[in-house]
Amino acid sequence: MGLENLIVNEDNTIIDVWKIINQNVFNMVFVTDSKKKLVGTLSDGDIRRYLLEKENLNALAKNIMNKDYVWAYIDEPKENLLKKITEEINLLPLVNKNFEIVDYFQYKMSFHVPIAIPNLGGNEYKYLMDAFLSTWISSKGNYINAFENEFSKYCQARHGVAVSNGTVALHLALVALGVGRGDEVIVPDLTFAATINAVLHAGATPVIVDVEKESWCISPEEIEKAITPRTKAIIPVHLYGQPCDMEKIMELAVKKSLRVIEDCAEAHGAEFKGKKVGSFGDINCFSFFANKVITTGEGGMCITNDKKLADIMRILRDHGMSTEKKYWHECVGFNYRMTNLQAAIGLAQLERIDKILEEKEKLENLYKKALKNSKDIIFQHNNLKDRKKITWMISVLYKGDREKLMHNFINHKMEARPFFYPLSEMPIYKDYVFSAKNSKEISKMGINFPTNKIVNLELIDKINEYVM
Ligand SMILES: *Cc1c(COP(=O)(O)O)cnc(C)c1O
Repeated sequence: MGLENLIVNEDNTIIDVWKIINQNVFNMVFVTDSKKKLVGTLSDGDIRRYLLEKENLNALAKNIMNKDYVWAYIDEPKENLLKKITEEINLLPLVNKNFEIVDYFQYKMSFHVPIAIPNLGGNEYKYLMDAFLSTWISSKGNYINAFENEFSKYCQARHGVAVSNGTVALHLALVALGVGRGDEVIVPDLTFAATINAVLHAGATPVIVDVEKESWCISPEEIEKAITPRTKAIIPVHLYGQPCDMEKIMELAVKKSLRVIEDCAEAHGAEFKGKKVGSFGDINCFSFFANKVITTGEGGMCITNDKKLADIMRILRDHGMSTEKKYWHECVGFNYRMTNLQAAIGLAQLERIDKILEEKEKLENLYKKALKNSKDIIFQHNNLKDRKKITWMISVLYKGDREKLMHNFINHKMEARPFFYPLSEMPIYKDYVFSAKNSKEISKMGINFPTNKIVNLELIDKINEYVM
């Protein structure tokens, strides 16, 4: 990491400083004066403590920086530098004779590498503060509309209905489409359990089908086989950023008069034949949980091109209350609303979604390059016909001993994750299985590698040692 992400001017506001800290991996910055001389250091902890106590967002770096900090000359021997390292201080600014920062020294203790870190370094804080100060902190306010409009536009669809999370987005979609008792809904065997739970909460019967070997996504052939006169809907899941074959699925749906609800929780921005996921089905659902492509903390959205469906969902998410007559309830609704605070964060995230996706893709390419000699690692396909996947979490199949590899990760404080268990293997879902085969194999071999700003070549080289 270069010095430029590590130096701020003493006249920068602490919010600007925090943003820079949020982009770098050190949790701190060095502060310089107008003559570029080192005058202090500041950590994210210093800023948070100050804000909690003083609530002064306009404070400048020079007001709160540590003036009593540890530093070293660029030409000091390494033993000297090591002596200055303590439990708290593992990063030293290195200065020349004019006290200008010319380099830094980092002592690498093994530090925790989480699976994902939200990227909040844009306008998130600004919009959040604006929403907060407006006192519209509940589920009315300008950010809700703006986020709904902008996100549906991003998905190349007309309407967005923001909700409290991705799971209730799926439930709301099912209810709005009239899916309930006696109806069958086809879901893939390999997915996060929220997909099938939403079907069960709607009172419908899930039908679990196998996934494609190459894409890991629901198999159109298996869907076709599983259709019965009671089938009402299909929920294709764009798993780990890979789009499903939406052409075949939509053809089937039209032929058999079925509803389609895309589960796009892991694939914001992915495309099939040049069209964004979320623009194919009747209602399509996104999640903005903290580890997803963009986040609102907790949150979700239903996307549709059908104004009537959007209107029904708006009523259902707000207790089934009439939009014209307050406290007059037209149907038995839910409280599935998103708050203006969440939407404020979401809008700022959306401004940078292309950049966030680009960074993730770069990281995947770095992994691919660094691990190219490991024959046991198979990266997720990124050139399947008609499909443009995005990088959500780096997802690979491992042909070696996965348990051993997972242990290595744990021992090095790196958080990797095994893939989802197939739904068909869990006793609570066993009555709903139609087909499951590829899903079991993929699940057994699958691993998500840490996907965040901390990961660098050095860290991947460490992974390389375990997989060789
Ligand atoms: C995360 C996720 C959901 C649920 O989203 P929440 O916001 O956590 O409720 C649904 N489906 C899939 C495939 C997911 O990955």
